[in-house]
Amino acid sequence: MKEIILIKDGELSLKGLNRCNFENKLVNSIKRRLKPLGEINIIKAQSTIYIDPQSEDFDFEEALERVGRIFGIACYSRACVCEKTCEDIFSKAPVYLAEQLKRIKTFKVEAKRADKTFPLKSPEICMELGGILLENFPHLRVDVHNPDIIVTVEVRDFAAYIRGNQEKGAGGLPVGTSGRAELLISGGIDSPVAGYMMAKRGLSLNAIHFASPPYTSALAEEKVKKLLSKVARYSGPINLAVVPFTEIQEEIRNKCPEDYFTLIMRRMMMRISAIVAKKDECLGLITGESLGQVASQTLPAIASTDSVSDIPVLRPLIGMDKEEIIKISRAIDAFETSILPYEDCCTVFTPKHPHTRPKPGQCEKAEEALQIEPLIERAIEGIEYSYIE
Ligand code: ATP
Ligand code: MG
Repeated sequence: MKEIILIKDGELSLKGLNRCNFENKLVNSIKRRLKPLGEINIIKAQSTIYIDPQSEDFDFEEALERVGRIFGIACYSRACVCEKTCEDIFSKAPVYLAEQLKRIKTFKVEAKRADKTFPLKSPEICMELGGILLENFPHLRVDVHNPDIIVTVEVRDFAAYIRGNQEKGAGGLPVGTSGRAELLISGGIDSPVAGYMMAKRGLSLNAIHFASPPYTSALAEEKVKKLLSKVARYSGPINLAVVPFTEIQEEIRNKCPEDYFTLIMRRMMMRISAIVAKKDECLGLITGESLGQVASQTLPAIASTDSVSDIPVLRPLIGMDKEEIIKISRAIDAFETSILPYEDCCTVFTPKHPHTRPKPGQCEKAEEALQIEPLIERAIEGIEYSYIE
């Protein structure tokens, strides 16, 4: 029996040009994600996308898993393709759905008849097929209010389809519909979750990571790449810039008051990230900050780091508890990697009593001891790029 994947897209409130952009980007995401699995044909019709595998060895199970991670999809299901005749639909349905129907107790049939020339009307299709299924599976009962399975028959212009329950999709907006932003990624729990959340709202991602060898190790960098590959399963490929940060951190340690170390370091990160972002055509920065979580994430500290970036800084985790963040981290399979114990540059030279409430102007004053421009220039010259997918 020939099978396809049926996809319903999300955010139905979108209209006109936006809707068209949404659908095109979604189809592109689907093509890119499923192409490695074999040749496919994609048909779009009335907020449904039909994925029709063309090659014999198409990996259907893997395709369904990948579809489940594509943003912009509200729900999806596998479906059996039938000729638009009663005989074909009614003979295939009990065979195609047998495995599912054996395992449940109650069902209901729904029919959608887009092709009005089909001889039976929707309620008649439901009655007929309901009767056939009861005959074939005597343990079943019809429950129109709360069935275990809704068997759906769609009679479309080009074919008819039979399916069981739909899976819930990843939701959100197709990646790319909101533009591109630069994710500041550490090796921790929070930043990969932040990247995932913003990709869900339609952003393509670039990433930037600050490394301070020899204080931070090559393993820490590998960890960041592994985390990004987890995020890329949702966001699509990510260009990573690794910035050498050792000289800047040593300069701050040697020349600035200890209690300002963290804030000044974070302001340097923001300055460099904003420059790299603009060079890479990113419209904003993304961080994994959550209000009050650590000394550098109080509102005055955030105000101080924000003031050196001239592009928006998105902080999707700002109002979330650690528990809530960890739940998402586990769901995207990043958690086990995040908790590997490699040092991040933020934990090198950390002061015992970091400032949590800098007054306006204080950081600027402390920074006067640094030659900011040349330090930034050298760091940017030393960037190494890699492509993560
Ligand atoms: P995470 O779990 O993401 O490491 P955190 O709770 O440890 O976050 P901080 O270390 O204060 O918090 O970092 C706050 C944010 O700053 C991170 O979420 C990340 O966006 C950014 N950041 C921290 N360290 C780095 C780094 N080495 N390179 C790039 N960005 C970083
Ligand atoms: Mg961290």
